Amino acid sequence: MSPVGAAKVRQQAAIARPALLLAWYDRHRRVLPWRPPAGQRPDPYAVWLSEIMLQQTGVKTVGPYFQKFLARWPGVAALGRASLDDVLRMWAGLGYYSRARNLHACAVAVLRDHGGVFPDTEEGLRGLPGIGPYTAAAIAAIAFDRRTMPVDGNIERVVSRLFAVEEPLPQAKPVIQKLAATMLGEARTGDEKTRAGDGNSRAGDSAQALMDLGASICTPKKPACSLCPLNEGCLARLRGDQETFPRKAPKKTGKLRRGAAFVVTRGDELLVRRRPEKGLLGGMTEVPGSDWRAAQDDDVALTQAPRLGGVTRWHRKVGVVTHVFTHFPLELVVYTAQAPARARAPKGMRWVPIATLDGEALPNVMRKVIAHGLG
Ligand code: SF4
Repeated sequence: MSPVGAAKVRQQAAIARPALLLAWYDRHRRVLPWRPPAGQRPDPYAVWLSEIMLQQTGVKTVGPYFQKFLARWPGVAALGRASLDDVLRMWAGLGYYSRARNLHACAVAVLRDHGGVFPDTEEGLRGLPGIGPYTAAAIAAIAFDRRTMPVDGNIERVVSRLFAVEEPLPQAKPVIQKLAATMLGEARTGDEKTRAGDGNSRAGDSAQALMDLGASICTPKKPACSLCPLNEGCLARLRGDQETFPRKAPKKTGKLRRGAAFVVTRGDELLVRRRPEKGLLGGMTEVPGSDWRAAQDDDVALTQAPRLGGVTRWHRKVGVVTHVFTHFPLELVVYTAQAPARARAPKGMRWVPIATLDGEALPNVMRKVIAHGLG
């Protein structure tokens, strides 16, 4: 298509897009545990809780965790009064545990500094722990109908295709953000009225409509363009190269780290310890282990094994446990040992019944290690 032709399509489609999108959303919106029926105001607590859980985790995984949290702590005040240990335990298995610590810190701050009521502006929300620009925009739009467009991965994909954005991510983020904002359409009343939540802006619905479109129709592979309400003005579709968007700069993956983990049993109990509060998996439960380095050396690793009276032999399990963190992949060899009945836990460690491990704040990597060690 010529640049003039493309510009014309862009112009015509831009006028109709927000209305088409909302009309599609009214018919096809996803049913999600944190989303109230159409026409009802969303609960800011539910919106915030779901947004924190959905950072780096998919909708399917988040659903049961969201419901568990809501049943245990039905409001932000209840969560703010809970202990961090209880929150971490409930979060175990969801990954990216700094989110759980921030979730708790945020609930405490809302209770202490805001009388148990979430601020209703992006700026106010951004002042809370764990709420960055995206999450602040998402809560402001969805819970308070503020005219702002939170851009997640789904929206990035839809918008980069609609406008055939050639610049690769992450550099393209500001451009995509601007283009995504055009999908909000015109408010029928002034900002103040919109802010009051009279439903005229439908900013939250516009954002959720784009998210739903990305999740169900404009999927990474084989987008269902024939069902898409925006297909007539989609530049990537007109060119036929939808799947190549969004363009991405080559990924830099962190260097592989290696280490050893020690699965020590005493009858039907397992030796565990708590990770330091700060840093990766801070405050979570783990089995003792060696440092994680570029190379794994059995002799060096065994010097870091827990000292237990009576343990004479470590058994090295066949194979390794692998796990990928955001910034690096990890490979762990697993040693097992059986401690005598009266062996005391070394300083900073404790014995826990294997039957109650589900109640521990165990990150996924440790669940894999324990399964491998006990298997
Ligand atoms: S027409 Fe296809 S590529 Fe374009 S936004 Fe719709 S589903 Fe995505």
